[in-house]
Amino acid sequence: MIIIMLGAPASGKGTQSAVVAQKLGIPHISTGDIFRWNIANNTPIGAEAKKYIDKGLLVPDELTINILRDRIEMEDCKDGFVLDGYPRTINQQESLDKMLEDCGKSIDMAINLVVTDEEVVRRISGRRMCKCGKAYHIVTYPSKKPDICDLCNGELYTRKDDTVEVANTRLDTYKKQSEPIIGVYREKGILVDIDGHKPQDKVSEDVLYEIHKYSSKQGVV
Ligand code: ADP
Ligand code: ZN
Repeated sequence: MIIIMLGAPASGKGTQSAVVAQKLGIPHISTGDIFRWNIANNTPIGAEAKKYIDKGLLVPDELTINILRDRIEMEDCKDGFVLDGYPRTINQQESLDKMLEDCGKSIDMAINLVVTDEEVVRRISGRRMCKCGKAYHIVTYPSKKPDICDLCNGELYTRKDDTVEVANTRLDTYKKQSEPIIGVYREKGILVDIDGHKPQDKVSEDVLYEIHKYSSKQGVV
């Protein structure tokens, strides 16, 4: 099954994609995570991507599309995958359709996590991350011990682009470049809106319910 997770920055795409990927036993592909891995490991791709990410801008399509293509051509993607943070431009969306079409595949569902602008900025400005991928919020979703991950005891850190200033640019970038993609998938009839304001577990329940509904209709998993 091929699932696309859509939504504003900090709408919960990463968290929910991880849940879905684990449940369905397919890879969770986050272009943001791929870029951050490259930055942490000082690769040429990382150096290029960092120029844009730190400012809240999108990494240019050419680079992003190539990275995505290489990733989804890997063996573990043959039975499907969850895409988190991709596509983010109409150009990326069209090229993804073409890539899938070339190998006889298509997107099953696009899940749109809906949150307000105020919530996006509130979440980003209090977000704390762990290397293992777990995200916390200093006020609404704190770790049990301050600055220590509940899952792996790792030390929590703040992403460089998780400041109020960059959050506003990211929101702006999202509205201008990424939001139009929602309309494209809605027209194709594969979009499902999910209320992203509910507690994480409840959102997961809603997402998994929609996937289950789709799968039983299609006879696929
Ligand atoms: P969030 O959804 O919280 O904004 P991500 O981890 O998905 O975080 O992305 C972080 C940053 O990585 C983005 O602001 C952007 O600069 C870059 N990025 C991630 N995915 C893409 C993409 N598909 N196209 C262009 N840039 C991307
Ligand atoms: Zn952790």
